[in-house]
Amino acid sequence: TQKYDAGLEKSRSSFGERLNALFANFRSVDENFFEDLEEMLIEADVGYQTAVTISDELRDEVRLKNVKRPEEVSQVIVQKLVDLYGEAGENEDNSLHYAESGPTVFLFVGVNGAGKTTTIGKLAHQLKDSGKSVLLAAGDTFRAGAIEQLQEWGRRDGVPVIASEAGADPASVVFDAVKQAKAQQVDVLLVDTAGRLQNKVNLMKELDKIKRVIVRELPDAPQEVLLVLDSTTGQNALSQAKEFNQTTDITGIVLTKLDGSGKGGIVLAIRNELHVPVKMVGLGEKMDDLQVFDPTKFVYGLFK
Ligand code: GDP
Repeated sequence: TQKYDAGLEKSRSSFGERLNALFANFRSVDENFFEDLEEMLIEADVGYQTAVTISDELRDEVRLKNVKRPEEVSQVIVQKLVDLYGEAGENEDNSLHYAESGPTVFLFVGVNGAGKTTTIGKLAHQLKDSGKSVLLAAGDTFRAGAIEQLQEWGRRDGVPVIASEAGADPASVVFDAVKQAKAQQVDVLLVDTAGRLQNKVNLMKELDKIKRVIVRELPDAPQEVLLVLDSTTGQNALSQAKEFNQTTDITGIVLTKLDGSGKGGIVLAIRNELHVPVKMVGLGEKMDDLQVFDPTKFVYGLFK
């Protein structure tokens, strides 16, 4: 909870403070109040449809319960968001899936700069801490520096990295990594990939080829295809998610840089518009700043 509290500082100060200002400015809960609220929700990036849904349901509830004072609405809003994400999220499986036997493979996809390499580095550290053996595959042979960056994380985590030179065929790097993971009975293989959304056809072919190489050796893998999204890009992250979802089957989302974003509301938009669970969140640049996503803690973190 402490991590969430600290990590969501920005989202909270912009969202929570504005919400409080809204309550301070209005004497009564009238139509202007709902219009301002709707606008604020849209700016917090919960998504247009979600913002409208929330304020519509609030209107009904306020009428039903005969709420007159803005302060009372505050509680209803928090409850509404918890319901929307928390309860809906409870039936949703946002845990990471591991192989029953043999190596587990997690494939990381997302545009450059989203935080793939950093997320892999952090997760490798946590997995190793929990007693699992880990191997990294430098499948992003496209972005300058991506290989070295992953190798640096490998050194820091004390985890081996399979890499080739820049420009090499990523599928061949992944092939070597899967072979080694099998031979050495590694518990978890984390695969970095290049994120060139500019060329969707190539990206799709590349990801397909990587997946085929994995499945040939390990029929149940990859257990997770995780889309890494930069939350500071707000609605852009949402449209990227939609594009990636068309390109490849995403099993979960890692939402990074929530510590630097006033746009924590994007979590709700993703949940409602994409129906892909957010499985992890990045709340900073340190090793332990990657957290399992907890919807209820998240919503309360926004309002504390
Ligand atoms: P990639 O191109 O997708 O592999 O992205 P990187 O892993 O290189 O990340 C891009 C930048 O975002 C780096 O400077 C990271 O340190 C930073 N970053 C990644 N995740 C987080 C996070 O959760 N919080 C913050 N503040 N920075 C992050």
